[in-house]
Amino acid sequence: MTGLGWGLIGASDIATTSIIPAIRAQAGSRLMAVHSRSQGHGAGYARKWDIPYAYNDLDALLSDNLIDAVYVSTTNERHHEATIAAASAGKHVLCEKPLALNLDDATSMVETCREAGVVLGTNHGRRNDASVRAAQELVRSGRLGTLLSARTSNCTELPERLRGWRLTDVSAGAGAVLDLAVHEADTLRFVLADEPGEVTAFTGSHGLSSAGVEDSVMGLLKMESGLLASFACSFATPCGEVGFELHGSKASLFARRRLGQDPIVWVRSPGDEEVIRAASAEPIGHATVRAFEAAVRGEGSPTASGEDGLRSLAVALGVAESAVSGRAVSLNPPEMSSCR
Ligand code: NDP
Repeated sequence: MTGLGWGLIGASDIATTSIIPAIRAQAGSRLMAVHSRSQGHGAGYARKWDIPYAYNDLDALLSDNLIDAVYVSTTNERHHEATIAAASAGKHVLCEKPLALNLDDATSMVETCREAGVVLGTNHGRRNDASVRAAQELVRSGRLGTLLSARTSNCTELPERLRGWRLTDVSAGAGAVLDLAVHEADTLRFVLADEPGEVTAFTGSHGLSSAGVEDSVMGLLKMESGLLASFACSFATPCGEVGFELHGSKASLFARRRLGQDPIVWVRSPGDEEVIRAASAEPIGHATVRAFEAAVRGEGSPTASGEDGLRSLAVALGVAESAVSGRAVSLNPPEMSSCR
């Protein structure tokens, strides 16, 4: 049979908006079951989204032989336990970001998956955004010349329906650093093919969050190449922007998303400006699940691997440390193990 049998661990919002449709878009793939800690929530979710089985016993879902892979989209503090249990049961794992709340847990997720011979992917799906891919290609082509600096922005307003644990629950990994800055770190690593070596950052709270949770963060990364990259993220900017700029010795690249429009990428060189419309051929979740399923078949790698999730988490944790200490933090990339 082609395609994979999937189980959801986490009856979440992001599964409904991105990964359930993505699984259903893959030829031969089957969404078999959902796990929720709450029997009522799980059963209602399964009914609403037409999922055959709802479990509130994780072992029961993991012992279902029709399930080959799981998508973990619980709150962040449960990613580790769910991934270890799934890998130990021989299931491939596509896990949400941030991979975990600390590097020990993230490292053990990567190693357990490798030892179990299962694929671990991290859902840094923005790598599949057409503007990000276009930027990566332009960097690789050398058209920008020697890269000198970069700037990313992920400043939006958190939708009402998501204003729960993200803004209040520190034990679940709330806040703009683990929710947003981890994506900026990953996008920069992906586009620049460079690793952050040092970070300095500040966080802010503008009334959206409570209990000392930040709703905004800004910072500066010094990449290993010497390139400087700034990032700004916020849950509290209704008219803000998601985009990035790359500045090279020959040209600069700008990527912006205008209201209701596909992202636009343009390249400015001396005396010239070329607009590249970077519309995505498919939703980014579809591309992420397609790449993950191919990796399970032994064809290529997930969009972002477990190691990518670990490395991008390490940057986010450095951001958090710098914001608390008020000092620059050196980022020593965690030792990587290879996870299929
Ligand atoms: P949700 O708040 O929708 O879901 C998280 C968990 O909360 C669920 O697994 C569920 O627990 C519980 N829950 C949610 N709704 C209810 C309810 N009505 N009643 C009872 N429990 C409920 O989280 P998100 O979808 O916003 O985020 C989930 C994960 O996905 C996070 O790790 C987040 O960082 C990540 N994410 C990633 C994105 C990306 O771009 N890659 C985008 C958005 C989120 P249970 O399963 O036990 O029922």
